[in-house]
Amino acid sequence: MTGAADTHCPYCALQCAMQLTPAVSTDASVAAAGGSPVTVSGRDFPTNRGGLCQKGWTSASLLRTPDRLTTPLLRTDGRLRLATWDEALGFVARRLRELRAESGPETVAVFGGGALTNEKAYTLGKFARAVLATPNIDYNGRFCMASAAAGANRTLGIDRGLPFPLEDLGGAQAVLLLGSNVAETMPPSVQHLAGVRAAGGLVVVDPRRSATADLTSDGRGTHVQPVPGTDLVVLLALMHVVLAEGLEDAAYVERRTTGLDDLRRSVASWWPERAEQVSGVPAETLRAVARLLAAASPSSGGAGAYVLTGRGVEQSTQGTATVTAAIDLALLLGLPGRTGSGYGAITGQGNGQGGREHGQKADQLPGYRSIEDDVARAHVAGVWGVDPADLPRSGLPAVELLARLGTPAGPRALLVHGSNIVVSAPDADRVRERIAALDLLVVCDLVPSETALLADVVLPVTQWAEEEGTMTSLEGRVLRRRRALHAPAGVRSELDILADLARRLGSPVRFPTDPAEVFDELARASAGGRADYSGLSHARLDAEPDLFWPCPATPEGEPPHPGTPRLFTRDFPTADGRARLVAVDHTGTVDDVHPGAPVYLVTGRVLAQYQSGAQTRRVPELVRAAPEPLVEIHPLLAERYGIEDGAWVRLDSARGRAVARARVTDAVRIDTVFMAFHWAGEGSVNHLTSDATDPVSGMPGLKVCAVSIEACDNPYDDVSDDGPQERALPTGAGAAA
Ligand code: SF4
Repeated sequence: MTGAADTHCPYCALQCAMQLTPAVSTDASVAAAGGSPVTVSGRDFPTNRGGLCQKGWTSASLLRTPDRLTTPLLRTDGRLRLATWDEALGFVARRLRELRAESGPETVAVFGGGALTNEKAYTLGKFARAVLATPNIDYNGRFCMASAAAGANRTLGIDRGLPFPLEDLGGAQAVLLLGSNVAETMPPSVQHLAGVRAAGGLVVVDPRRSATADLTSDGRGTHVQPVPGTDLVVLLALMHVVLAEGLEDAAYVERRTTGLDDLRRSVASWWPERAEQVSGVPAETLRAVARLLAAASPSSGGAGAYVLTGRGVEQSTQGTATVTAAIDLALLLGLPGRTGSGYGAITGQGNGQGGREHGQKADQLPGYRSIEDDVARAHVAGVWGVDPADLPRSGLPAVELLARLGTPAGPRALLVHGSNIVVSAPDADRVRERIAALDLLVVCDLVPSETALLADVVLPVTQWAEEEGTMTSLEGRVLRRRRALHAPAGVRSELDILADLARRLGSPVRFPTDPAEVFDELARASAGGRADYSGLSHARLDAEPDLFWPCPATPEGEPPHPGTPRLFTRDFPTADGRARLVAVDHTGTVDDVHPGAPVYLVTGRVLAQYQSGAQTRRVPELVRAAPEPLVEIHPLLAERYGIEDGAWVRLDSARGRAVARARVTDAVRIDTVFMAFHWAGEGSVNHLTSDATDPVSGMPGLKVCAVSIEACDNPYDDVSDDGPQERALPTGAGAAA
């Protein structure tokens, strides 16, 4: 035990501040009692103001989860067995050398995660480029923020989820929230919507009456419930109304943007009545929402307006276009860069923001630089001590990378860090097939996730409260993660593992393992980039816990840069300082309903589970709160198919099948069913989802697909043992053994 520590939650991008306090006197007594080694309390911070959600309150359970991995595992004769670190890493290094010698450096792929600290994400990107020399690195943020990033980069010139502090929302008169269920995914954030709710200005766009949409049910807000996959039509119609009625901020548009003529032409044909036919949203609602936003905007003398997007509209094959339209709307209204107004994307994963800034994305180097930019390559290569010519170019985005695994021209080895891809990736059955075709799968994880159980080598790693580092919140605020207790014996940090592997592979590149030193190197590598961290250090963040990037280093003798809580106040980071209005159009859902699959499936999240559930399905309180996936189905649709509340339902799509119990509720549209994606097994919704991707961002259209439904029998009737996880692990692999 190391004593009380001020840190942040291990889960979502709100990164609620918490304090961890030793619960008992010794690690040994905790282990013996099977209890939690720390108690969690909320800590006052601008984002959560002392609040935590159920996931945060129960997060200490993760630290002593009974199946915590504490020993490397090596597959021999088809079964995972205990191994020493030397044996496991020696095996990995040997196989990597052999495969690279046979098939070249591109045969090794790396898959990272948005939960890794900045230091780990940076080191993983460096390891892939400077040691493995492979272009094939990407991460699960491709499933999360890629469309928001692409849309923001091409319009605003930079991608920072919220370009303003979250608490700025508190003064808004209107907020248009598209495809985000913050009341369940990050409940403490809802307090920042209290002002706009009181003003009657909260507009939630969601095909489902989610807990967030329910915030409007007092009659003072608006729930817009479009046909799944038609959010873009709603935005095009809102822009049509703004321009047709002269509600735009003409002076702002003239001074701070380009592209109005093309945009005007592109939305001319989306008059509200036509949009109503496609989206199902009444024309008068569309007009009312446009006028509400315009009245709240600064040019009308309003108190301020925000347009916010989330995964509901971004996880789409037209996700980039939808985000682009949301930003176009915000620009027409003169919101970005104005006090009390703006556009933002609500990041999902804990370090979804930092994870995409420091090099684990296929086309990026640290500092949010392009790997195709020769100046950036030279700078980063200089920090790493390698020849820029030796750095690979862009690799494959995540979905394409997974689809190529084990194919004749695709990667033969995959290293996975902080990601449970066989649950979280679209068309998961196909992903499982591709993984089975690999010559080598290495997974670093803290628990035997579904992906880890398929691995040839499993390496047990430190988690959250056992490590130092930094995370970057959804607002670009760089936060210190602090260690509250020592990791169990036998567990190592990815920083150590990658440094060890680099050495075993004969690389001359230096890999520091002290997180503060890694951060200093990251900061140097980011200098001059869009996400410039060069004025930050662990020591400075300890003293000033409220710093936002960009925060460049200043010349010797000058005061340190104060960081940048609010972007775009003077100009946009584009060549001419103006934002781009970019014309887009609705192309429709790739996997649309048809007679063989006549119902829309919409996927999402529930409060008591997080992402693939690898962590939260191991927390008893959360399992009691949300034990299994449910198919939400409208009463009339349920009646048509003879499905009763609690009965088993089978969903089939062009990819596969999922089976779960029904929850009959009028919260979903009559043409739509909803499932959360946190579970593995028969009820894993990603058996059904499509791996079709957005052509700009490479983001999969996880949110909407077409399914058929019917009542069925309990698929678990024949299961008489404890399930695959317990069968697959050797005795002694975990902390409880
Ligand atoms: Fe953790 Fe997110 Fe819940 Fe806050 S809202 S306690 S960061 S899961």
